[in-house]
Amino acid sequence: MLQPITIHDKQFSLYIPERRIQHSVEVVAARISHDYRGKQPLFLAVLNGSFMFASDLMKEMSIPCEISFIKLSSYADMKSTGKVKEIMGLNQEIEGRHVVIVEDIVDTGNTIAGLLPQLREKGVASVEVATMLIKPECLEHNLSIKYPAISVPGEFVVGYGLDYNGLGRNLRDIYKVM
Ligand code: 5GP
Ligand code: MG
Ligand code: MG
Repeated sequence: MLQPITIHDKQFSLYIPERRIQHSVEVVAARISHDYRGKQPLFLAVLNGSFMFASDLMKEMSIPCEISFIKLSSYADMKSTGKVKEIMGLNQEIEGRHVVIVEDIVDTGNTIAGLLPQLREKGVASVEVATMLIKPECLEHNLSIKYPAISVPGEFVVGYGLDYNGLGRNLRDIYKVM
């Protein structure tokens, strides 16, 4: 029996081992490579959590593709639309591009629901979402997430890019809180 790990004040148990993660990433990369043949997609990885998934996904792609990294920051004083996030670091022209958003996890869907209209406003040719993890039972928006790697229940997870108060991102496996 594997020992739980401690991060800050909480204990976590192994949930998704590295080999299953890698297999799921390969499957998603193969699907995207197939769907975007001849289109040279632009991946937009949402920092910080997606850095590891984005890296592994890129390595498994079998077609030419580009990547850019963005951060999202909430508008400070827009209480009524507190979920709207400003895109930071988008230094690439995305008009006319086939964009694939790369996320670590889709939980409520607020982040993606806020991001999609902003990208469409900038005139992308198409936009889809690839996410390492999705919590279907937590989704609060009618979103179509085309490339989810692994579905998980609504429990807090860390590892493979995901953190608990700054720690745990470097873990090769995914752990869930006990
Ligand atoms: P949303 O609710 O907008 O879909 O997800 C927002 C963000 O919450 C995610 O990008 C991720 O950073 C964080 N998040 C949601 N669920 C979890 C989780 O189980 N573990 C960790 N570490 N972060 C999560
Ligand atoms: Mg995220
Ligand atoms: Mg976090």
